[in-house]
Amino acid sequence: MSNPRRPRVGILGAGQLALMLAEAAPAVGADVLCAGRLGDCAEQVAPVLPVDLNNAHSVAEFARNVDLLTIESENIDAHVLHGLPLFPNARAIGTAQDRLLEKHFFVDCGLEVAPFCPVNDLVSLHAALREIGLPAILKTRRLGYDGKGQVRLTHESQAADAWKAVRGVPCILEGMVEFDTEVSLIGARNRSGQLAFYPLTENFHREGILRISRAPSHPELQSLAEQHLTHLLDRLDYIGVLAVEFFVRGSHLLANEMAPRVHNSGHWTIEGSETSQFENHLRAILGLPLGSTESRQTVMFNCIGSMLPPEATAALPSVARHDYGKAPRAGRKVGHLTIPAADTAAIARVESLLNMP
Ligand code: AMP
Repeated sequence: MSNPRRPRVGILGAGQLALMLAEAAPAVGADVLCAGRLGDCAEQVAPVLPVDLNNAHSVAEFARNVDLLTIESENIDAHVLHGLPLFPNARAIGTAQDRLLEKHFFVDCGLEVAPFCPVNDLVSLHAALREIGLPAILKTRRLGYDGKGQVRLTHESQAADAWKAVRGVPCILEGMVEFDTEVSLIGARNRSGQLAFYPLTENFHREGILRISRAPSHPELQSLAEQHLTHLLDRLDYIGVLAVEFFVRGSHLLANEMAPRVHNSGHWTIEGSETSQFENHLRAILGLPLGSTESRQTVMFNCIGSMLPPEATAALPSVARHDYGKAPRAGRKVGHLTIPAADTAAIARVESLLNMP
């Protein structure tokens, strides 16, 4: 009897998210091919073809090698994505890559958000500051991540400098939210509409970059967050994993942004859940039933700038070390560590090694 051919998933991008998706592929009997640059970190575990992700012809050529496509970054020009067997769909990606469309979409779906105004020039920035008040945060509509493309304003006299700092591209101005904490919800929807949600994860940022995630957290907000995510998934006819980041204020959840892909705040699911976000993303897009999201209390630390050497954690057997194999660089995510929450001694040791209180 001949074996059926294994499905081949193409990933647009070959960074650490593609790497971890490729690591999950054998569990679902799939092969992965990445579109990126030679030397990208996913090359350690999967073939990478050199593809210019801004060039529709180059992406369409790549698509001929695979059965279906997914993404590891929403920052791909929407015009290259149309007409491809892409999961999630181009509409979901297009909405998530523009902060103004995303905010309107959240509001349409009944979610609370921070006050916001579109800003297209210095005159509209001044008008927005008067409407929103101070402090406020100016964010580029596109290509912002890890706190990039953002300027905080505490006084109207900073408007001209802020506008210069964002290089005059279309923006939104948001009111600063005085939040209690930040959480994210990661959910998956498969081709038959089956849904699965991970427990809410609490996230701690420094300089706009995620440093620590802890899950499960805020169980009293789980069902509200799941209702919100269900709306978003259904409205977008979404297939795959979708992550939404919320500000928590009392019993309220204010949606900040969504990521139409596997998410950094879900890396703990590799060790902490029965099925990781990476495996469930592949299950969702391949039309398989979703796996269990039963989870244990877990903490994840990002390694920013440089990776802790293996010797540093060698005496801590509960620490799972994920080195993305990227060159050290200030502000760059180069790996992460996952630790069961019960091992408080290992957590304290890692906090001091990473200089994170
Ligand atoms: P973002 O790129 O929108 O996820 O922003 C990065 C981080 O900046 C968030 O996780 C928050 O810690 C902070 N931040 C962004 N927008 C706001 C806001 N409107 N109010 C308060 N903090 C914010």
